[in-house]
This record gives sequence, structure tokens and C-alpha cells, in this order.
Amino acid sequence: MNFETEAIRTQVERTDFLEHSNPLYLTSSFVFEDAEDMRASFAEEKQRNIYSRFTNPNTSEFVEKICKMEGAEAGYAFATGMSAVFSTFAALLNSGDHIVSARSVFGSTHTLFTKFLPKWNIETSYFKVNEVEKVEALIQPNTKILYAESPTNPGVDILDLEHLGKIAKKYNLILVIDNCFATPYLQNPIQYGADLVIHSATKLIDGQGRVLGGVTVGRADLIREIYLFSRNTGPALSPFNAWVLSKSLETLAVRVEKHCENAVKVAEFLEEHPQVNWVKYPFLKSHPQYEVAKKQMKLGGNVIAFEVKGGIEAGRKFLNRIKLCSLSANLGDTRSIITHPASTTHSKLSEGDRLEVGITDGLVRVSVGLENVQDIISDIDQALN
Ligand SMILES: *Cc1c(COP(=O)(O)O)cnc(C)c1O
Repeated sequence: MNFETEAIRTQVERTDFLEHSNPLYLTSSFVFEDAEDMRASFAEEKQRNIYSRFTNPNTSEFVEKICKMEGAEAGYAFATGMSAVFSTFAALLNSGDHIVSARSVFGSTHTLFTKFLPKWNIETSYFKVNEVEKVEALIQPNTKILYAESPTNPGVDILDLEHLGKIAKKYNLILVIDNCFATPYLQNPIQYGADLVIHSATKLIDGQGRVLGGVTVGRADLIREIYLFSRNTGPALSPFNAWVLSKSLETLAVRVEKHCENAVKVAEFLEEHPQVNWVKYPFLKSHPQYEVAKKQMKLGGNVIAFEVKGGIEAGRKFLNRIKLCSLSANLGDTRSIITHPASTTHSKLSEGDRLEVGITDGLVRVSVGLENVQDIISDIDQALN
């Protein structure tokens, strides 16, 4: 069936109550019929729920929906996007393995690469988002994972997934794509050769700023390793959050359509504004990777990066004048959110390091919400003026 139908109609078995809406299974464990049932369940001779750290009907339903949306064989749901990222690396890598990654990745993922994975003798080499032709030169005999996000956070750069898929195949690497900004509705990396796809469900999948969650889906043999690691180390998504997220998926298509429709209008407005140096939005012709974005994404997403004239001070002033949009660290919410990375999330980096990942002092990131677009534009306009 089609995307919207799967998102709405995928359901774990009904109980004897024949409920219409999918119920919430708040239970830590499940009971066994007898000693033989218990033995066979632990031996994995039958597929059934044992303990909610392993599986739970709500998390299974959420995972099944994401698998259908991404064209994946299997998956596992996590408490946060970062536990999905970490557990994926921890389950698949051994001491001495090597990662090749895009330089611009989510801040905490970057911290994993630079601060924590080296503790287990796992090193990472980086390529710039506009230099994918240099990826092959970074591959070593011990390289195991090729990692990227597209669009990137906060620069909204686009990486050519088909190109990365070909390199991964040629060198037998596991291609892992963080598909958070695109959502499964706009882009399916497995189609281009990704072996695993990660989502922070906290963002557009929840879409209403309520719960944290994450998920990794993809090749069944890799997910099996990730499942075994996670079942024993405990990063599982809570049944309640899984229930919220599964409900959210029922409206993902309509929400993301509207987010994108609003975002295009805001991006076009910003492009004409005299106080703005440049605007980066995947579906604007001025975006450096516009053609690639058009090829691999259905719509341009809801995040816009732009530069206010006047550097870091102008960026801070702009934020202080914003009235409607929220100053918040989240994105992909019904509420529009504005951040200024140079003075906040990336303030600990030197200016040189910030420029390396495309964060100029005047860079502002807007996550366009579902308010009336004229109200969003008016707010940004008065703050710029
Ligand atoms: C937010 C985010 C994450 C981390 O997700 P959490 O749910 O906050 O742990 C990972 N990748 C990207 C691209 C994100 O935006």
C-alpha cells in the first residue's frame, strides 16, 4: 500500500476489546504459558514479547511503520536519536575500525567521533560536504562505516546519496545515513544504497515537541547485531513514547507537506530581503546542490539557513527582536523555531572551526512550523528591519 495508508493502517493485533485506535501497552514484561513456552521464547524458537527492553507491541508497531516507510527489512527503536547513533556504532564496530564521515554532522555525533569512540580505538576521517569526490582517498583497509546526514544540520547542505551508495558498494562499507531532516516522507536513502537509516524521532516524526525517540532501520543482518547489543545494554524506547510516535506517523505526510509549503515561502521572502546576505534552502535554485536535492528529495524540508548582514552582533540582535517564533534548541515542531548557532550551540568552537562546517557568525537556522505563513514572515521581517 501507499505511504499514507501504511502510516495509518499498520497495527499490531487487536485485543479482545476490538479497539479501533491502537492501544498503549504499559507493561515491563509479558507472561509465559508454562515452562516450555518460557524456554522456547528465550531460545527464540518463537517470536513473541518477553520483556520491554527487548520488544513491546508499541515499539514494534512504530518500528514496523518506519521500516515500511523507508523500505527497510528490520529495525530497532531507541530512547533518543543519539542512542540510535551510538548503539549503531557500538554494535557494529570493533576496536581498530575506522569511520569515514561528512565533516558537518549533528553536534553530539561529532562529539562521539572526536571524544568517545577514540577511547575504544575507533578513529574517524572527514570529508567536506562539497568535496564528496575526496571520499575515496580517505578510505583505509580498516574502514568499516561511511556516515553522513542530508540535509545537514545546521548548514542545510545536501550530500549526493547515490554517489555515497556507489562508493560504499565498491569498498564494501556499511553506509549509514542520518535521515532526520528529510523524514521518510521526503527521502529514502536505502533506495540509493544505504545499508542503515537513522532517525531522531524527536524532530519531525513527533512533530509536536513532546517526546524524545530514535530508530535505526535497514539490513536485517546488521539490525540483528544492533538488536543484540541494545537488548543487553538498555537504550530501548519507552512504550509510551512509541505510542505517541506511532500516532504521529499517521499525520507525517500531511504535516511535512505543509511544513515544506511554508518553508518555501519563507525562503523566497528571505532571498529578497535587503538585510540578508544569502539563503540556503534545498529547493531554491540558488542552493549549491539544488540538482542533487531535486533528484533525491520529494520536497525541500522545513529547515532554512540564512545569514543576517552584520555578523555575530546582528545575529544576536535579530534573535532578541523575534516575538512569535521560539528561541529553542529543537526543530521540526508545529511551532517555528529560530537558532543562532555561532552564539549558542557552536559557541565553544573557534571561528575557524565553525567556518570549516559552514557556520558563519551571522548564520541563522529557522525550522519553519505550521503557523500561518504570513505570521511567520511578518515576525522575521520586523526582527530583520
Ligand atoms: C536532533 C538530532 C539528532 C539527535 O537526536 P536526539 O533525539 O536529540 O537524541 C541526531 N541527528 C540529527 C540530524 C538531529 O537533528
